[in-house]
Formats: sequence, structure tokens, C-alpha cells
Amino acid sequence: MFTIEKTDGRARTGIVHTPHGSFKTPAFMPCGTKGAVKTLTPDELKTLGCEIILGNTYHLMIRPGEELIQKLGGLRKWSGWNGPILTDSGGFQVFSLGAIRRITDEGVEFRSHVDGTPYFLTPERSIDIQLKLGSDIIMAFDECAPADSDYEYAKCAMERTHTWLNRSIEQFNYSKTEGNMLFGIIQGVIFDDLRQTSTNFVAEKNLAGIAIGGLSVGESKSAMYHTLQIVSERVPQDKPLYLMGVGAPEDIVHAVLLGVDMFDCVLPIKNQKYTDDAEPLQKECACFSCLRFSKSYIRHLCMENEMLSHRLMTIHNLHFLLDFMRKIRQAIEKKSFEHFKANFLKSFKI
Ligand SMILES: [Zn+2]
Repeated sequence: MFTIEKTDGRARTGIVHTPHGSFKTPAFMPCGTKGAVKTLTPDELKTLGCEIILGNTYHLMIRPGEELIQKLGGLRKWSGWNGPILTDSGGFQVFSLGAIRRITDEGVEFRSHVDGTPYFLTPERSIDIQLKLGSDIIMAFDECAPADSDYEYAKCAMERTHTWLNRSIEQFNYSKTEGNMLFGIIQGVIFDDLRQTSTNFVAEKNLAGIAIGGLSVGESKSAMYHTLQIVSERVPQDKPLYLMGVGAPEDIVHAVLLGVDMFDCVLPIKNQKYTDDAEPLQKECACFSCLRFSKSYIRHLCMENEMLSHRLMTIHNLHFLLDFMRKIRQAIEKKSFEHFKANFLKSFKI
């Protein structure tokens, strides 16, 4: 269930309620790709202000397998994270990591990138895996066409995504338990009419939430913003809107202004350049890493491949993004989001 709290133009704050707790929006969801957010414990995530994490169906189905996780109480109990979880459908990783053998209307035949084991992933199987993992927010199985797809292929992938959405809904309704939410995914690459068609198709299904897929996959920023505009004008306003795989701060502020509520992305780990810099990673950052350690020290740890360097940088990156979302929510509450966005873009160096 989604409650909108405050609005400022099309930007809004809200709360998504799940059986395992609620989270405030606009929200950033750290990726617990293989069952863990890299180097951090669930308690550390909570301390940083994280309220929901994302799990990857593709990685978990390959290792250790959803049956084992289900037997051990589901992803939440198994990994020690007791808050809300969103799982992706596996589609995106199949298309980007797996050695694809065949895509048919039935599903995708591929080999694991780990050991070459063959798999066949269908909308029904994806929904079942996500339910076995114990996910709260389940994503429909989709085909994410590459950014440079021609119109014909983009249309074909979109139509397949729509057929797969119908099958995902049927399977979800058959197997769901109390409180599970299903999100449909809008595709269509960067073609306006396809995005419009796809938005209308997904909107008509009256699902718990709507996601925008296939952006930030190599298209230009202006094309991405244009597509976002086309989609955001047409989605129902009372559903949470999730922009998949987008987590650059300048893109987040842009999307929030258009009414996007949820974000995720793999955190960037930048190499530090300076050997003699006594300053923290970021001046005035209040995270544990910046309060205690210099750039010089963290760079040294990186060069030596010390595990602590990954921890310190993950803590800093997550603190930055979660704090950024908090500030975004405050600016919306004060009806000063446009001002916040302009100030942020002026001062933020990419
Ligand atoms: Zn910091």
C-alpha cells in the first residue's frame, strides 16, 4: 500500500507499507546483489538510514538457489535483514550477464555466467522464485532491450514484455501471499510512441506499483530525461513509481521532480587519486569514514586491496545517498524542492 504524504508540484513524499515494515519515499534502495549489501551488516545498513534493500533473482537462483533459501526461512531470515525487500525479476541480469541461447515468447534459455549450467527463465518461474525468496515487492519479468535497439526490435521486446506482464500477473495472483506487491515494468527503449503504449498498457493493469525499465543503459542523458518526461506524464499518480537502475544524484533530483518515488543502483567505488591528502573523502560529510579517515589512508588501503577500503567507501557512498534522499524529502515537505534541485546542481561536481 502507498500513502502520499506531501506534494510539491509533481514531486511527492510518501510511505510504502509492506508486511515487513514500511519505507519513506523518495527512497534509495541499496543492492544486496548476492544476499548482502557489499561489506555491511543489516544493523549497519539500518544505522545508515536504509529502510529497504534489493535482492537479485538471477544471482540467487544460480547460487545458492531459491529452494535452499526458502528452506532456511526466506531471504529475510537467512540474511538477517528484517525489513522490506524488493527483488528484481532476473531479466536484466539474464540479458546483461548470462550467455543467452534463445529468447522466445515462452521465456529465455541461458547459461549461468558462473559455470555454464543451462537455465530456462519464464515469467511464471521468475514470480515463483521471487515468492520463494520471500520478497515484499516483486517485479514482473520483462525484456530489457539494449539502448541501441532499432525500432522494430524495441517494439518486439516491448510487446513480449506486455505478454510476459499478463503471465506474471496470472502467476502472482495464483501464488501470492498476504501483502506481496507486484510492479509492472514499462519498456520501449527511447521511442516516444512505444513508451506511451507501454505506459498505458502497464497503467491499465492496476498493479501495486509501476517501474520504468530500460533507461540508464547507454542512451544519452537528454534521451533519458525526455523518455522520463513522456512516461511520467502518463502514469497514474496514486502508485509508487520506480526508476530502475538509476542512482546518479543529478538524475535522482531530475526524476523526483517528475514524480519518481524509488531508485536503485550499484554504488560507484572511485579510486582515490591523492597520496598525501589529509582531507576526508568529502568535506563536511558526517559519515563514519569521513569523520575518522583521510583520503590518503583510504587510497593506501585501496592500493593494497585491503577489505577495509571497500567498507569505508561503501559506508561513505551509502551515507551520502541516504542522507541525500532525506534532504530531498525535507525539501518537498517545505515545498522548496525546485530551489533544492537548483542549488544542488550548482554545487555538485560529478
Ligand atoms: Zn563520508
